[in-house]
Amino acid sequence: RVAARTVGLVKVYGRGEAAVRALDGVDLEIHAGRFTAIMGPSGSGKSTMMHLLAGLDTGSGGSVFLGETELSSLSDKALTTVRRDRIGFVFQSFNLLPQLTAEQNILLPLELAGKQPDRKWFDELVEILGITARLGHRPSELSGGQQQRVAVARALVSRPEVIFADEPTGNLDSKSGHELLDLLRRSVHQFGQTVVMVTHDPVAASYADRVVLLADGKLAGEIYQPTADSVL
Ligand code: ADP
Ligand code: ADP
Repeated sequence: RVAARTVGLVKVYGRGEAAVRALDGVDLEIHAGRFTAIMGPSGSGKSTMMHLLAGLDTGSGGSVFLGETELSSLSDKALTTVRRDRIGFVFQSFNLLPQLTAEQNILLPLELAGKQPDRKWFDELVEILGITARLGHRPSELSGGQQQRVAVARALVSRPEVIFADEPTGNLDSKSGHELLDLLRRSVHQFGQTVVMVTHDPVAASYADRVVLLADGKLAGEIYQPTADSVL
């Protein structure tokens, strides 16, 4: 099964002399129920790829499919619904709402979707992430790593079909980083979710089932069953 795919995907930022071709015709299939890492040098198009796959931005050419749905065929309203109901985001900018507590931030997407949280899963998740004692705090009262973990809990609490994570371990110490990667792996292998993660870190990438390499906006290779050594 294919969870998402791009066909001839092109993204150009700016125009004329200043135009940057961030993606230059990418054909990529993201396998459902697998953990895929995207690696590549800075500026190779990783973040752009994630944003387009997740429907947060639109391409300049080619197409993006989530399952059978071509994202560009959707109205803004339908796209918002797809993002809300089928996708979990773990991005570097946490986008936590400052006036809400950690718990309220985590539960907000479910609330907006009109769904009841699975309290048992919620409790387990915040325990795994080590934020149980922080649930009543606002983001400004949390460290960067804690805010990151609140954002992770928010992304996972609804058990979305696809999870997009952009450098999810970037703000975490090594132990918390490994716990988060274990959690993402468990989301895949225990719950059948699909995870797509952008990372610079070969150790983080070694948690994935497959590493896709980008260079200059093009696919430059892939490695199945990566190890930290094989992706260096
Ligand atoms: P990576 O995540 O691999 O570092 P990005 O996708 O962030 O790569 O960027 C790919 C290229 O596109 C880079 O040259 C970057 O400077 C450029 N770029 C990314 N976002 C924008 C933007 N919003 N406006 C202009 N150029 C951008
Ligand atoms: P990273 O490579 O660590 O993912 P970047 O610094 O490349 O982060 O990009 C962070 C954000 O800034 C991305 O969302 C990207 O779209 C945007 N960005 C990157 N390069 C540019 C640029 N030249 N102009 C405007 N926005 C950019």
